[in-house]
Amino acid sequence: MRTLTIAGALIASALLTGAAATQSSRAGTDVEQRIDALLAKMTLPEKLGQLQQLDGEANGNARPEHAELAKAGRLGSTLNVRGAARVNALQRVAVEQSRLRVPLIFAFDVIHGYRTVFPIPLGEAASWDPAAVERAAAVAAAESRASGIHWTFAPMVDIARDARWGRVAEGSGEDPHLGAIMAAARVRGFQGDDYSRPDRIVACAKHWVAYGAAEGGRDYNTTDLSEHTLRTIYFPPFHAAVQAGAGTFMSAFNSLNGVPTSGNPWTLRQILRDEWKFDGMVVSDYNSISEMIAHGVAAGEADAARIGLTNGVDMEMVSRTIATHGEPLVREGKLPMSAVDEAVRRVLRIKMRAGLFERPYADEALERTTVLKPEFRQAAREVAARSMVLLKNDGGVLPLSTDVGRLAVIGMLANDRENMMGNWTGDGRASDVVTILEGIRQAVSPKTTVDYAAGVGISVERLRVETDQQRADDERGMDEAVKIATAADAILLVLGETGGMSGEASSRASIDLPGRQLALAERVIAATRGAKKPVAVVLLNGRPLAIPELAQQAPAILDAWFPGTEAGHAVADVLFGRVNPGGKLPVTFPRHVGQLPMSYNYLPTGRPPQASQKYTSKYLDVDVTPLFPFGHGLSYTTFALRDVRLSAPRIAADGTVRVSVDVENTGVRAGDEVVQVYVRDVVASVSRPVTELKAFSRVSLRPGQRQQVTFTLGPRELGFYNQRMQWVVEPGRFDVRVGTSAVGGLQASFEVQ
Ligand code: BGC
Repeated sequence: MRTLTIAGALIASALLTGAAATQSSRAGTDVEQRIDALLAKMTLPEKLGQLQQLDGEANGNARPEHAELAKAGRLGSTLNVRGAARVNALQRVAVEQSRLRVPLIFAFDVIHGYRTVFPIPLGEAASWDPAAVERAAAVAAAESRASGIHWTFAPMVDIARDARWGRVAEGSGEDPHLGAIMAAARVRGFQGDDYSRPDRIVACAKHWVAYGAAEGGRDYNTTDLSEHTLRTIYFPPFHAAVQAGAGTFMSAFNSLNGVPTSGNPWTLRQILRDEWKFDGMVVSDYNSISEMIAHGVAAGEADAARIGLTNGVDMEMVSRTIATHGEPLVREGKLPMSAVDEAVRRVLRIKMRAGLFERPYADEALERTTVLKPEFRQAAREVAARSMVLLKNDGGVLPLSTDVGRLAVIGMLANDRENMMGNWTGDGRASDVVTILEGIRQAVSPKTTVDYAAGVGISVERLRVETDQQRADDERGMDEAVKIATAADAILLVLGETGGMSGEASSRASIDLPGRQLALAERVIAATRGAKKPVAVVLLNGRPLAIPELAQQAPAILDAWFPGTEAGHAVADVLFGRVNPGGKLPVTFPRHVGQLPMSYNYLPTGRPPQASQKYTSKYLDVDVTPLFPFGHGLSYTTFALRDVRLSAPRIAADGTVRVSVDVENTGVRAGDEVVQVYVRDVVASVSRPVTELKAFSRVSLRPGQRQQVTFTLGPRELGFYNQRMQWVVEPGRFDVRVGTSAVGGLQASFEVQ
């Protein structure tokens, strides 16, 4: 029996191996001295230039004014300009023609892959496999750096408990612990332990902060949260990113408790700089400095510049308030020169740490041999397969046999390239994508015939308005689908959202299956029910969907998120059992949009829901429970957890307790189970969540194999912020639950003395 120890202490030390932690103090001093020397030579306009980031064209081209500004020393960075040749051309102007030869830092949203697109971040998080997530980020970093990019606006580490918010797709879901582990993994993957290397880039933890708590799930909306909730739920992934050495942070669009986060002294200065000792740079989100005028806290552009810069933003993305108004503000004594110098220092620090002064140019030959390498595609295929979650599999419908005979594949998304990349496609090209239909056709045996019907149409536009023509086309499409399903031996429905239905500015007030897809599924299932044919659904989605009817009627559902460039291969790997799915939900699937916001780690109420008691916390019309709980995910094999043991019945408040459990593969296939440890502090000075994930481990077991898994819980896992915002471990009983989702499992208890 192999013993695996996932110690709190171990995780903490892994979190500390990032770039900031490994900067040797000598190199650090050297950088600071070089910055001093440079700062001493800079004019005020040159300083302000370092604080300006401008947008390129969506296709990667620079704009003509970039070269003019770079030459004058009035540009610090661009976003979206990419490709080694284009980057080099602009960089040459900055490095060879500007007075002080300060290189530009080229940024881009490398969110889940650069050219080789990996699953959307929510999907990657569903792997519950930090090593896989780190590998995906490392591939993205290698491709980006080879293409001239030094800096990604990722990881997005916003906690999201409201699936209406489209940007839930970009993060790691609802849980602070899983979110923190994934944040650190992505930072390590992008930066390695030295982001000056030719295959690494600087990371940016965003959006600082609470952006995911947008009221009503409506993007950019205001947020209002207690300090306790911020520290307990929203801060931990950001803190993990700092501890992993993230070079930069992005301030957000939202206001928080009335103060916009791009001009918020409490979050930008007090928490980030003073408490967490972050010494990197903060970039404001796109126009968020000038948007402080619309927020009603800045009287005009000059005021916005002053508020942003004095409260802790270092670089302004796109709006130009600092560059335009910095000089008069300093002259009039409204902006201290020390605030400008501090921001410039932080920008230069990151440029130096990124090695830009030594190696400003990209290697064009390296770019050609790096992007879309076969081994990168292979990594994308493996990570995508690891991210898939088997939500339901009644009667073992899946995996399908490759010899099934006639297989009907139904759904517009099955024959689609672009949508497989989800949103934020980096430099990904639809032409690189393997469709689900192609993946299936390649995987089946020569004896199997694959028929395809698109069924019904879905699009972002049709979420609001549908034409009579579209309705008529849907009817015909459904007839066609029923026809091929009736003739088939097995049926696969590929349903869900398009890539553009989640992501930025893509909130939905309804989170059900868009368009007539449910009707399509119902008709196909009804038409084939008597024949006992296997019917399975592949779900593509950037958010949890409220799909109670589908979940009831479809015998099997595999959630594939948006799998990326290798979509078709990865989906086929799992459908036909070459890969046994082992992903778990990083977000709760509600039954109904009206349950939102929703998360598994809610606080107890004085009146927990009871069906027989009217005056308890529930709805008259919808059950309070989730459709699929956080942490849920099935496998083609079965697992049993046995014999949960604690190393001690009681511990001191600063002590640790080990929790061990045996996990056994009780089925006939090799597979993965994610063992999850949840804790409840039964009585505390503040109300504590009914249950909280504190540790997990994804283990691979052969049929019949049994393994002991051990986790260590200490002050980090058992503590919380009390009413005075101090981190404390209070005496009393703690209930531990070891399970395979947020519901059920084996229980044990111990006392803290
Ligand atoms: C988004 C950021 C992104 C930035 C640059 C903004 O609209 O909120 O997440 O990094 O644009 O593309």
